[in-house]
Amino acid sequence: MIVFSDLDGSLLDHDTYDWAPAQPALALLKERSVPLILVSSKTLAELEEFRVLLELQHPVVAENGAVIDVPDGYFGGDAERPASAVARAELQSVYEDVKSTYGFRCEAFYELGVSGIARETGLSERRAGLANDRQASEPVLWRDDERRAEQFRQAMISRGLRCVRGGRFLHVMGNTGKAEAVNQLLDAYAHVWPGGETTSVSLGDAPNDLGMLSVTDVAVVIPGKHGHPMNVDTPTRVLRPTLAGPAGWNAAMMSLLEEQLGSYSTTKIDGG
Ligand SMILES: [Mg+2]
Repeated sequence: MIVFSDLDGSLLDHDTYDWAPAQPALALLKERSVPLILVSSKTLAELEEFRVLLELQHPVVAENGAVIDVPDGYFGGDAERPASAVARAELQSVYEDVKSTYGFRCEAFYELGVSGIARETGLSERRAGLANDRQASEPVLWRDDERRAEQFRQAMISRGLRCVRGGRFLHVMGNTGKAEAVNQLLDAYAHVWPGGETTSVSLGDAPNDLGMLSVTDVAVVIPGKHGHPMNVDTPTRVLRPTLAGPAGWNAAMMSLLEEQLGSYSTTKIDGG
């Protein structure tokens, strides 16, 4: 099994950023050496903290797929960067042009500044600084209506960029995404674990997770606070826990891990 998980609103509580309710499943994943790959809109600087706190030695996907970080030697070769990532400075100049052309009411991270980010997210100033340490994506706080958000998204697409919705922000970036990053990592795992029957699982709560949820064998849709529909295309299985955040994360992962253990013991019995 390989597990790909969103952080905010999924493994972490949407408001308190706590993950304690997921502790039982996290411990079991560790015990069984199942890779847990964090796939987030957060920056690499922020994910480094969670890598340490959660004691993970696996790749992480930052900035909604625009940044992939693989520990040295993990796949035995060099990790590839997403080819279509666009540098933040370039994203900002396109954003400024679009915002002034249409007169959208919105504020990007670089306009909010560290104290504005702290105010809007409830993060400490230090954490807000880490959140602003970005390479290839720009979060935008939307203060305009939904129809105008769609107009904004189309304007970005016509300029060769992408715009996805996270729990709190719109994220502007190049043609990179969580789905592309997860596929890239699944290919890398297939090379180091040839011939293995590996089940891929992904967990997410928001529309920016939909691509990722549709490329793994099992998709776990955590109830979100955004009110947008979460229709997942194509995976073999979709689990929808009733609890939000880390409690729902834990319930879904525990049932998948128990099933896996069940199939192991059946195999043993069948094999005599
Ligand atoms: Mg989320």
